[in-house]
Amino acid sequence: PQAIDSGVVTRVLDEVYTLCRTEIGGAPADYIPELAAVEPDSFGLCLATADGRVYSVGDTDIPFTIQSISKPFTYALALADRGVDAVGQRIDVEPSGDAFNEISLDPVTERPRNPMINAGAITATSLITGRDAAEKTERIVRCYSRFAGRDLSMNESVYTSEARTGFRNRAIGYMLRSFGIIDSDPDEAVDRYFRQCSLEVTCGDLAIMAATLANNGVNPRTRERALSAALTERVLSVMTTCGMYNAAGDWVTTVGLPAKSGVGGGILAVLPGQIGISVFSPRLDEHGNSVRGVAACRELSQRLELHFLHVT
Ligand code: GLU
Repeated sequence: PQAIDSGVVTRVLDEVYTLCRTEIGGAPADYIPELAAVEPDSFGLCLATADGRVYSVGDTDIPFTIQSISKPFTYALALADRGVDAVGQRIDVEPSGDAFNEISLDPVTERPRNPMINAGAITATSLITGRDAAEKTERIVRCYSRFAGRDLSMNESVYTSEARTGFRNRAIGYMLRSFGIIDSDPDEAVDRYFRQCSLEVTCGDLAIMAATLANNGVNPRTRERALSAALTERVLSVMTTCGMYNAAGDWVTTVGLPAKSGVGGGILAVLPGQIGISVFSPRLDEHGNSVRGVAACRELSQRLELHFLHVT
């Protein structure tokens, strides 16, 4: 990438923001009323460097639920808790091509194909260690908070609504239990998954979480280590191949950064060693990715030459 010149970054962020604000396609997630109730035209964009400088434009302080952007972080904690081999026996690292909420396992391995689809994510959540359900959830919240550099909390009404309507995720939990992928209480794992999805972040938080991944697992603001360097590499690898729902191939081609999106409208992207990017805009495309988020990441990647295969 171009050397990170703060004048250039500020100018490019402003340009990309102005350009992408005109995108009004897509619609906020509406599978629960709480998600549809957002201001659909909110738009925030941040870039944080691996040494902790943060550049922001727009609505970067509005809280929204992290949703599927939780998946890489819980996977990270499961890897730290149980080790790469034990987790690998239950969750593969192959892109699936299935819908994120597909009720299926790989027919050959009988494992979830990766930790970014719900089956893999619920399995990762079931592997978190702790004395009881409350402590396991608490450890997840603390883990994400270390990445963000502040104490995150849950949106109770989103959680209640997810828990009331999440029959498909319960079906996935029971399927996992019947195949022995989850060997604890599946209801407890799914409930914890609903809670982790309901944690609130701002675009500014996601930028620091991304910068922590970019900085090999050390939060550049608090200097606290959130994840080992080796596990950071593994998490970023899975984000590269599986992070963007079924648009992962298109994303790698046009943006070229490990990333994860969520139906709350957030996207987090990482240029290892250098930069974390975050976008918040609730209108989603047919894959479930933020329309402006995808557009903004494309523009930023091109203009700042961030594609990880870019050769100058
Ligand atoms: N709570 C949502 C679900 O699992 C998260 C969806 C998402 O962000 O992809 O259905």
